[in-house]
Amino acid sequence: MLRLPVTVLPETFDADRGYPVDLHMHSTASDGTLSPTELVALCARRELSCIALTDHDTMDGVDEAARAAEYEGLTLVAGCELSTRWQGINIHVVALMPGGARGALAEGLKAQRQARIQRAEVIAERLEKAGLKDALAKARHQAGSDRPLGRPDFAKALVADGLVPDWASAFKRYLGSGKKGDVKAHWPEIGEAVGWVVASGGVAAIAHPLRYGLTRRKRGLLMDDFCAAGGQAAELVSGQQNADSSRDLARQLDERGLYASLGSDFHFPGSHAAPGSMSVIPRTAARPIWQHPRLAHLGDAPAGLLGIGA
Ligand code: AMP
Ligand code: MN
Ligand code: MN
Ligand code: MN
Repeated sequence: MLRLPVTVLPETFDADRGYPVDLHMHSTASDGTLSPTELVALCARRELSCIALTDHDTMDGVDEAARAAEYEGLTLVAGCELSTRWQGINIHVVALMPGGARGALAEGLKAQRQARIQRAEVIAERLEKAGLKDALAKARHQAGSDRPLGRPDFAKALVADGLVPDWASAFKRYLGSGKKGDVKAHWPEIGEAVGWVVASGGVAAIAHPLRYGLTRRKRGLLMDDFCAAGGQAAELVSGQQNADSSRDLARQLDERGLYASLGSDFHFPGSHAAPGSMSVIPRTAARPIWQHPRLAHLGDAPAGLLGIGA
């Protein structure tokens, strides 16, 4: 059950415990370090009541997470975080799918899986030229499973080989925006990915809108295109962010009628972003995403049952 009265969310904020809602988190189905079961257990310990599993380009962890959520008595929204392109920039779209992966989104996720596999080969080729021998095998070793590879696996391989001292330098020198290993050509245009989500009964939200290095104006243009494609929401709060930026972002959402989502983007314990630990939502906030008609039943859904199998 989603227990909190949504309109009083800002007042319920507790700096130590954070929010009882977190709609952006990762598991071992992508680049997180906790299994879906471990992640849900952690959320239960942190007394969250409504969570979404949003692994990169896959919903493979959702069934396991839903079983764990049922056991722990909290509500799970099936989801994923889609890699897309907008004006040559890699933009992430969080898809909240109360009916699970089906239809156009299920097809889209198959394409994303292939894209990720092919992209890893290109990244590996480029990193080999930069001095990382057997890059693909080393990244696979770091991943520790057969899931499609992501840039973090290559970052770990670069560190393990001593080409860079740490993960941050790996992104700064090889994998971050505009660097050799930042391969985006395989991802669909944002409008196409939004189309999959909307056609499959879900709600699409621009992930962490403040993390793309866009000017305010350009962020507005992204939102305009996103809305035109049928996108319904954006993350108003992603992890820890500056209060003034949040208030300004709230205005940009309100101007376009976008619903406000929130999430920690949790990947692993020990990072600053624990499940439910987000900055305070500005009081000027746009409508919270769980008031979207497609998610309205979250309020009375039986624990663990959203997004299973359907
Ligand atoms: P990918 O999905 O393969 O494009 O990899 C993107 C993931 O890499 C993000 O979801 C983060 O987990 C991680 N990442 C991206 N940029 C950075 C960065 N600058 N520093 C550390 N991790 C990053
Ligand atoms: Mn990630
Ligand atoms: Mn992201
Ligand atoms: Mn994420």
